[in-house]
Amino acid sequence: MKSAVQIAREALAAEACVCGKPKKHERPFCIRCFYRLPKDLQIAMQRTMSQGFAEYYSEAVDYLKVELVIKPAPSTEKIE
Ligand SMILES: [Zn+2]
Repeated sequence: MKSAVQIAREALAAEACVCGKPKKHERPFCIRCFYRLPKDLQIAMQRTMSQGFAEYYSEAVDYLKVELVIKPAPSTEKIE
């Protein structure tokens, strides 16, 4: 079982967003997903080095899953 911090770190390193589209390295989401987030989460997602980032990241993923009806990502491990 991965910790929220590990998941968030891997997501930042990955080149695909939770929606499956390409995203920039070291960015948590692609631009489209980013702008779907509520303002407070957008702000949190810009602070990738901050302490609570991992928790906000999982909150943002949950939000986007509901918003986009994203199916669980197969695995982000192969991207590294
Ligand atoms: Zn996306």
